[in-house]
Amino acid sequence: MKHIGPHVSATGGVENAPLNAAAVGASAFALFTKNQRQWVSAPLTEKSIEAFKANCEKVGITTDYILPHDSYLINLGQPNDELIGKSRSAFLDEMKRCEQLGLKMLNFHPGSHLNQISLDECLHRIAESINIALDQTHGVTAVIENTAGQGSNVGFSFQHIAHIIDLVEDKDRVGVCIDTCHTYSAGYDLKTDEGYAQTFREFDETIGAHYLRAVHLNDTKKAFASRVDRHDSIGNGLLGMEFFTRFMKDPRFDDMPLILETPDETRWAEEIVMLMELSR
Ligand SMILES: [Zn+2]
Ligand SMILES: [Zn+2]
Repeated sequence: MKHIGPHVSATGGVENAPLNAAAVGASAFALFTKNQRQWVSAPLTEKSIEAFKANCEKVGITTDYILPHDSYLINLGQPNDELIGKSRSAFLDEMKRCEQLGLKMLNFHPGSHLNQISLDECLHRIAESINIALDQTHGVTAVIENTAGQGSNVGFSFQHIAHIIDLVEDKDRVGVCIDTCHTYSAGYDLKTDEGYAQTFREFDETIGAHYLRAVHLNDTKKAFASRVDRHDSIGNGLLGMEFFTRFMKDPRFDDMPLILETPDETRWAEEIVMLMELSR
C-alpha cells in the first residue's frame, strides 16, 4: 500500500506536525525537528516529545512513514576542517532529536565540495560524517537523498551515493531517498516507459534496491539534465501525469514514506487524493 504526505510545518512545536499532516489527509509526512535555518535550537522538551508521540498515534501515522529532514545549513562534505565540525555536531544533534522522538530515519542532502576539494574527497568526508553520527546514536538510519546536482552539490549520480554507502561502516543504518524532481534534473529519464525502467534498474545495479527507504514525490519545472532543482505541483511540471500514474502502480514503492515537497500547499489534500486514486 502507498503512504503519501507532505513536508509539513512544525511551527509551534514538533507535536503540531502530525496534526498538520492529518489535516490534509496524509498517511505519511516529513518535518524539520528544529529550525532549518539556524545552527542551534532549544532542545526538545519532554512535554513536546510526549505530545508528538501521542499525536502520531491519534492520527494513525507510525514512524515507518515519518521522514524528518535535516537543516539546510549542514554540509557533511564541507572542505574546511573547522567548518565541518560545526556541520557534524549539528547533524549529530538532528540524529539525537530523531532518537528522542522515536523516529527511525533522518533524510539529508549529502553535501557540497564548494570547488575546494575533489568529488572523491568530498564523498569520503560525507561517509566519515555519517560514520561519526551513527557511532553515537542508535536506531536511526541515515537516509541520503539524491540531488539535482545544482552548484557543487554531490549526490546527483547514483554512483556518488553507492560510493558513500560503500564507505559507511554500519550498512544496516544507511539508506537512500530518491527525489523524483532531482532524478530527472540530474539526467535520469523517468518520463518515458523505457527511461523509467532503466532508471530504477540502474539504481538497483549501482546502489541496490534494498537501500531505498523513501521517495520525495515532486514534479519538476526544469528541463531534463538541467541540474537545476525546482519542484512543481504533481502533474504541472515536465514529469507529468504519465510518470505519476506509472509510479503509483509500481509495487516497489509500497510501504515507505512518499513525501510531497510540492510548492503549492493549498493543493496538498487534492494531490494526495489524486495520487492515492492512481494507486488503486
Ligand atoms: Zn527532496
Ligand atoms: Zn529539491
